[in-house]
Amino acid sequence: MGQMSKINAEWHKANRMPKNPTKAERITWHRAHAAHCGCREMPESIRKLIEEGINTARGKQQRGSSRR
Ligand SMILES: [Zn+2]
Repeated sequence: MGQMSKINAEWHKANRMPKNPTKAERITWHRAHAAHCGCREMPESIRKLIEEGINTARGKQQRGSSRR
């Protein structure tokens, strides 16, 4: 074992998960983590959140009510 799970310790130092992360923060963190480090797999729950996030992002892209 070992070669697959390579930890990027520097990245972890520079990118700590916030204490009470929101969904968006967790998604952002795990996406960046997957790109930069392979110490552990993305949890199933995060994958689902990302899928949901993609769907909602698409929905929000529609023009219309910008209340500012
Ligand atoms: Zn890692």
